[in-house]
Amino acid sequence: MISFLPVGGGNEIGANCFYLNLNGNGIILDCGIHPQKTGFESLPKFELLENKSTDYVLITHAHQDHIAALPFLIKKFPHLKIYSTPQTRALAELTLHNAVSILKKEISDEQFEFYSHDEVDLLIKMINYNEYEKEFLLQSFHQNKDANVVANFYDAGHILGSAGILLDNNGYKIFYTGDINLSNQAIQTSAFLPKTKVDTLILETTYGATDSSKLFSWQKEAERFAKEANMILTSGGSVLIPVFALGKLQELLATIWLLMQKGKLSPVDIFTGGIGTKINRVYDYNRYVVNRVDKEFELSSIPQNDYTQLNSPDDLFKNPSIVLASSGMMIKGTTSYDLAKRFLLRRNSAIFTVGYMDENTPGYKIANSRKGEKIFLDESDKAIEVKCEIKNFRFSAHAKREELISIVKKLKPENVILVHGDLEAINWMGKEILSNFKGTKVHSTICCKEIVL
Ligand SMILES: [Zn+2]
Ligand SMILES: [Zn+2]
Repeated sequence: MISFLPVGGGNEIGANCFYLNLNGNGIILDCGIHPQKTGFESLPKFELLENKSTDYVLITHAHQDHIAALPFLIKKFPHLKIYSTPQTRALAELTLHNAVSILKKEISDEQFEFYSHDEVDLLIKMINYNEYEKEFLLQSFHQNKDANVVANFYDAGHILGSAGILLDNNGYKIFYTGDINLSNQAIQTSAFLPKTKVDTLILETTYGATDSSKLFSWQKEAERFAKEANMILTSGGSVLIPVFALGKLQELLATIWLLMQKGKLSPVDIFTGGIGTKINRVYDYNRYVVNRVDKEFELSSIPQNDYTQLNSPDDLFKNPSIVLASSGMMIKGTTSYDLAKRFLLRRNSAIFTVGYMDENTPGYKIANSRKGEKIFLDESDKAIEVKCEIKNFRFSAHAKREELISIVKKLKPENVILVHGDLEAINWMGKEILSNFKGTKVHSTICCKEIVL
């Protein structure tokens, strides 16, 4: 019997964790936390796995919503064997230690004990790694040949090391996209898909509810960005760009540098800092072993100033500059939140958002505000008047919805399980698949409800 159980995530983005039982071989796909929730609420429901066979856990990439709950899972099920790509393993070492320092404050409550730096060190040693498109065997723990699974990672084009996972259990094939991108960014190339028909496709649906005419190509969005940024920079202002430290920072830094090299963007000082700088180095030393738009390109060769070395954050306004700071959604207590408060008060400066903002985050409030409006970033804070320019851009690391549909067309699955999207996204995708692919079964995932395939 083959079954699928969403342990977290499903019809929302966060705490992605999916359990597959392939004739007795228990395989967990991803193990993330929900960054907008706290305490036990932020974790997948591991208690659902208690009476099940649990053998392996495969991680698609090192973003929090796919990996940050792994240390909790391993504490509960220490016998699990973990697999990822070598790049995800290297990035996990940075992001999980960072989670101890940052997330611990954000998602902990009194009853909830977070993991420690020592536990992260041990966990990283436990991660087995496999390169893209090199099959590896997930042998049944119970010496049951019917339960053996051959696994294979495919470059998902989302961030460094990101992978889609193909599982083959005696000819029954399942492909999980993870977070997938089907067009080039500045550094990452688009995804590679298996060249085989699959029986079940587990498909992310991040942009299922987004009209693709609102999502421009990376190139086109870069040109619009340069035009808007030049207006601020040439009038003496500075631009703050809140970014995720993993993925968005590297892609935006490369984009900005390439625009400056081509003479399309004013050559001003670039400020970066924090964990992002360490992640840049992992991107650089992996450049020859993964797919890249340009393998020679190195992030560390871009002249950058470290904002953590400034005497005062107000020094950022002495000369026109571009500041890339995390977190991406300007969560309270992070650098981008602290800097945003200063940028908001500066008439000739600007905050440029570059990606998705979750409702109820300070980033969402800023992205949707207008000059002259008074906003509350946090209930306990006083109102701030928006004096700077606010511009929103979409530099996407996820496939557009029509591109997601093209995966169904290519892999010809009998079953499609829709994950990693809100209800609206899942509804659009479901309707589209049902009307275009006769005979294909669509499953929307509701957390904790098992699907027998
Ligand atoms: Zn991701
Ligand atoms: Zn994700």
